[in-house]
Amino acid sequence: MEHIDYDIDLSTEELELKTAAHKFAEEVLRPAGKKIDRMTPDEATAPDSPLFDVLKQATELGFNRMGAPEEMGGTAVTPRAATLVNEELAWGSMGLAGAIGLSSTPANIAMALGNEEIVEEFARPFFENTGGSIIGCWAVTEPGHGSDTLGVMQPEMVVETKGQLIARKDGDEYILNGQKSAWVSNGPIATHAMLNVHLDPGSKLDHGGICLMPLSLPGVSRGKPLDKHGVRAMTQGEIFFDDVRIPKRYMLLDQTAFAPYMNIHLSMFNAGVGTLVTGLARAAYEEAYNYAKNRIQGGKPIIEHQSVRARLFRMFTLLQTCRTLSRGVSIYNGTAMKRGVPVRLEHSIASKVYCTNSALEIATLSVQLHGGNGMTKEYPCEMFLRDATAMTVADGENAYLTQLAASLL
Ligand SMILES: Cc1cc2nc3c(=O)[nH]c(=O)nc-3n(C[C@H](O)[C@H](O)[C@H](O)COP(=O)(O)OP(=O)(O)OC[C@H]3O[C@@H](n4cnc5c(N)ncnc54)[C@H](O)[C@@H]3O)c2cc1C
Repeated sequence: MEHIDYDIDLSTEELELKTAAHKFAEEVLRPAGKKIDRMTPDEATAPDSPLFDVLKQATELGFNRMGAPEEMGGTAVTPRAATLVNEELAWGSMGLAGAIGLSSTPANIAMALGNEEIVEEFARPFFENTGGSIIGCWAVTEPGHGSDTLGVMQPEMVVETKGQLIARKDGDEYILNGQKSAWVSNGPIATHAMLNVHLDPGSKLDHGGICLMPLSLPGVSRGKPLDKHGVRAMTQGEIFFDDVRIPKRYMLLDQTAFAPYMNIHLSMFNAGVGTLVTGLARAAYEEAYNYAKNRIQGGKPIIEHQSVRARLFRMFTLLQTCRTLSRGVSIYNGTAMKRGVPVRLEHSIASKVYCTNSALEIATLSVQLHGGNGMTKEYPCEMFLRDATAMTVADGENAYLTQLAASLL
């Protein structure tokens, strides 16, 4: 029961890229991800953390520059090639694949929404940088607004309240005051942010804007890195804003385009999460399959017991379905974006919710097939289970996203 890639027609170029990503995942991400998982959050974000070497190597290999054109320093790969790479990276480490992907968020948004000046300021330096020293994040959630921040494109889910990061216009500048939640991935290490703000004096949560900014501006400070259960290799933490002044041009869009843009952004991010957790699910399945071939109980390898084979078959079916769904959705929405036709949020949510729930079931079965060993840190399956649990909440908790998608049907 070896899982296979149903895309039997991958081009030589795609196969080479997939092989390069797998090599990096196996040789660099898997060991570094395991090491960072066991570090304290302070150690994980300290200057000598392996995290920075991972980001440097990923940048050298171009794995966070896949969406940018070649003249900008990007690798301009197709949506299908990007899904192949992302699945491989998350097979190595869910947390590190997330950190690598998020590092390019401000640069990608500058390309998508910015004028020439913004592109030169936020995109080109990132794509031309090979040292991994420019690190991005997307700061959207707030202590009092988690799910609420994600459903703003659907009028019936918009909440009558102000956000906790307020941007007030002052001449040619905006002044930012407030904070983002402890869950901002890459928050403790990011140099730049894509930031969702509440535009003063709006009174509802869809009165938002999206801006880009360097996090070195006066008035920006950070909280302690978060100590959490899963995807510990992707570090997280609060960002505070105290009278932070940004030029008006950094505000890429205001409340008129905010909700429609959040629809596009969540579509792309949820599709991406579906692909990443497919890689995680594959890692958990392979671990269980190999263990079952070697563990002797009842006088034979456990894989020869009917109930073990049935569980492996269940995992295999879920995994193959995840790959098909997540790849289809990522290719559809990635191509739609390039062609300027509407992306489909409900499909991305279907992929995110199905694949994260399946990854959780696969990781749970993987732990159970390891018996007592599955509880120990000697085997990676317990980390896969923690990572899978976290991904059911990342980028929108699954039950909330299901409600949002259902309201779009
Ligand atoms: C691994 C990870 C990575 C993350 N990365 C980032 C990041 O990069 N940037 C960032 O800003 N944030 C990030 N987050 C935060 C994440 O987006 C939120 O945790 C998520 O949206 C849920 O918000 P919450 O934690 O506030 O939970 P809440 O919104 O408080 O939800 C709690 C429960 O209530 C339910 N619920 C909430 N509202 C409704 C409703 N209207 N109807 C029905 N049920 C509802 C939810 O389904 C959930 O079960 C990350 C989180 C995790 C776990």
